[in-house]
Amino acid sequence: MNEPVTCVIGGGPAGLTSALTLSNQGSKVVLVERTGRLGGKPATFCCKADDVCRWCGVCHVNRMIDTVTKNLHIELCLDSEVAQLQSNDHGFNIQIRSRDGVNREVACDYLVWAGGYQLFDASLKPAYGYGRYPNVVTSIELDQMLLEKDLPIRHSDNRSPRSFAFIQCTGSRDIRLGADYCSQVCCASSVRLANLLKYRCRECDVSIFRMDVQSPNRPFDLLLSELDISIKFIDALPGEVLPLSNGNLLLNYPNASTSTTESLEVEMVVLAIGIRPQIIPQIILETLNLKTTGSGFLNSVSDSSRVAVAGTATGPMSIANTMIHARSAVNLMWARTHGVRL
Ligand code: SF4
Ligand code: SF4
Repeated sequence: MNEPVTCVIGGGPAGLTSALTLSNQGSKVVLVERTGRLGGKPATFCCKADDVCRWCGVCHVNRMIDTVTKNLHIELCLDSEVAQLQSNDHGFNIQIRSRDGVNREVACDYLVWAGGYQLFDASLKPAYGYGRYPNVVTSIELDQMLLEKDLPIRHSDNRSPRSFAFIQCTGSRDIRLGADYCSQVCCASSVRLANLLKYRCRECDVSIFRMDVQSPNRPFDLLLSELDISIKFIDALPGEVLPLSNGNLLLNYPNASTSTTESLEVEMVVLAIGIRPQIIPQIILETLNLKTTGSGFLNSVSDSSRVAVAGTATGPMSIANTMIHARSAVNLMWARTHGVRL
């Protein structure tokens, strides 16, 4: 009997986990990734360890990239996307188009949608000055800077800042910006980044402006309890960020306990940007029997038993939870198509 073929759309943590799980179950996998590399956004992030591991999950993704790349049952189609998709009695016919315009047809028995998410465009919150003030960066950009260098560099004067303010919930929990939900991962990400900045630069001042902290799991609770106590948490969000002539930034924020407005001047502002759903063409949703939730993410389960939806395509989640979710989604698809009761 020929081995079944599964097409996995998306090469981030969910797609990598799905491909490895399917390969272990005896399926040949065709993995289609829009960009020229695997790993999704986390492949560009730094390790958050200080003297100990801080459970950010980035190295798990790097390990999976290595394993998938060496797996002879997983065929990689990088720089490629789904151009056409048709369902039939046995699965799907997919036309895959590569960046150089070459099309190829793949017939598969199963399909895993692991298309991931988009990041909030911080310039849509103009009060924080992203794109206008050079020393306002996103948490993703800071993460990438800390992969390349010990400390970030200010765009305005090419020197390392000595004071930082994180602003949480940028583009999340804000109905005016079209997202009334919590993005789940940005509290943990900012706390890990703040901790790493303090570890690499003891004399740096790091403040985190927040509504509250959403703690997604036990390792994060542990990190909070062990945190460098010199990281300052401020229970307010600044109304706006103002540029100063020396390149620094001034944040005015309400102090609820004194009913006054206070100010903080810092050398770099970091916006903890939220997670948004990918826009998926209607024709693909209909062919795969997928529906979206009120926030625009995909329902976890398709009406078609030959389709699985894995990871952050269904909503915000950490790398660790994405891997767990993808494994469960693939196992559920296998159980549904093999008549196994779970
Ligand atoms: S989980 Fe994160 S912090 Fe821990 S070793 Fe891996 S990359 Fe570093
Ligand atoms: S995880 Fe934290 S920063 Fe992100 S949206 Fe939720 S509360 Fe805001």
